Amino acid sequence: MSSDQNSTPQNSNEQMEKVVSLCKRRGFIFQSSELYGGVNGAWDYGPMGALLKRNVKDAWWRAMVHDREDIVGLDSSIIMHPLVWKASGHVDGFSDPMVDCKTCKKRFRADDMDGAVCGLKPSKKPGECEGQLTEPRSFNLMFETFLGPVTDTSAKTFLRPETAQGIFVNFGNVLSSTRVKLPFGIAQIGKSFRNEINPRNFTFRSREFEQMEMEFFCVPGTDEEWFQRWVETRQKWYVDLGLKPDRMRLRAHDKLAHYSKATTDIEYLFPFGWGELEGIANRTDFDLRQHQRGQRTVGKWQKDGGELKDVPLADEDAEFAKGKLSYFDDEKKQRYIPYVIEPAAGADRATLAFLCNGYDEDKAPDDKGQEQTRIVLRLHPKLAPIKAAVLPLLRKDGHPERAEKIYKDLKRRHHVEYDESAAIGKRYRRQDEIGTPLCITVDHQTLQDGTVTVRDRDTMQQARVAETALLAYVDDYIEKQS
Ligand code: ATP
Repeated sequence: MSSDQNSTPQNSNEQMEKVVSLCKRRGFIFQSSELYGGVNGAWDYGPMGALLKRNVKDAWWRAMVHDREDIVGLDSSIIMHPLVWKASGHVDGFSDPMVDCKTCKKRFRADDMDGAVCGLKPSKKPGECEGQLTEPRSFNLMFETFLGPVTDTSAKTFLRPETAQGIFVNFGNVLSSTRVKLPFGIAQIGKSFRNEINPRNFTFRSREFEQMEMEFFCVPGTDEEWFQRWVETRQKWYVDLGLKPDRMRLRAHDKLAHYSKATTDIEYLFPFGWGELEGIANRTDFDLRQHQRGQRTVGKWQKDGGELKDVPLADEDAEFAKGKLSYFDDEKKQRYIPYVIEPAAGADRATLAFLCNGYDEDKAPDDKGQEQTRIVLRLHPKLAPIKAAVLPLLRKDGHPERAEKIYKDLKRRHHVEYDESAAIGKRYRRQDEIGTPLCITVDHQTLQDGTVTVRDRDTMQQARVAETALLAYVDDYIEKQS
């Protein structure tokens, strides 16, 4: 579990409020069902947010699947067989301790009371007010649902709380349908659901979120080396995309989850404190072994009416190691169950980290030459929702026609925007706020010599570039920042 309440920097609330307000004002993130008063722990990504989050996921997919020879992709279903969650340990163990306040009726996570406040007296912590707290009870975080029209125990299943199990149960299918050999990984991006007791800190702790997970299967004995490598590789990914290294840290867990031999979190210093972006775990052969046992239990489970709590998983026996989730090693001439290293990241948390990391204020002259505070989102160009804005200086004299042509040319390759709506300074500010790295302005000189001005978001410096060289200029700009 992460430590999202520790080391809260000064003015953190103010800083977070600024990010949240920008997100709403510029169409990055809205509260889910806002029209109906909102729903806690679910968020909608607006036009800018959808692009930003897509770019985050694309950057992950590119680094984890596209650019590598040893990782393949997967897109498994959200709804899975209920026994998957029994075998994985989630039915019996995926819970948080919950306490209720008998006075204000609010619920809290007993092991994470740092940021919690009394429902009646917000200046006090739960339990330090007049209210009396119940004994902690175990609360399973999985969302229950029913398959088909019958709502009895045999139809009960869950919305997945992690994407990883979809990978484990497909290990055999991937082995038999591709040419992969150990060591290799299976990666996927997808929605997960956890009925968090206290969703908070904007999108950081939500009930519906997206994960970017990869299970890297390796020969037992090589797992510790791969674990180290993956911690380094994953940390570098965030830094390469602009997260400030001095706001990142690694945190090794001393209390391990039931499936893990070692876990290290990559954390980011959000305005509300340190929070986990990604956990890298050495899951050993735990999950594959469990599913090897789980799939041999289906008959018994059906006969007994499908009560998950009581169904025992099959024991390991001589046949066990030969099951569908084992691996035949051609070199060793041996069959065994591989070990697994799992880098598990959250697309929403990464997106929030890039937003908080990029939010900045500096000074810039307005259209009358007066110094004003400028809000600028310093996103890495690869993540920026809009790569360039094309702006005619005037709405006449042939500027719009020329600008539209440039816009259409660039649009074939990049997400670009055309804007002729206000004074040029105002248009620059709008683009700065959504993190657009380049503003291309068509002016009188363009009509004479075919050059435009290209303004850099961060330095606000302008360069004159030939129209014909613009596409290469934008490409280079995005690439050179890697
Ligand atoms: P936490 O300790 O913050 O509850 P966790 O250790 O339970 O997280 P994992 O099970 O390791 O999280 O999930 C992998 C990643 O999925 C996390 O690093 C995080 O980025 C993301 N994630 C997990 N829970 C949530 C959530 N409730 N909201 C948003 N993202 C989440």
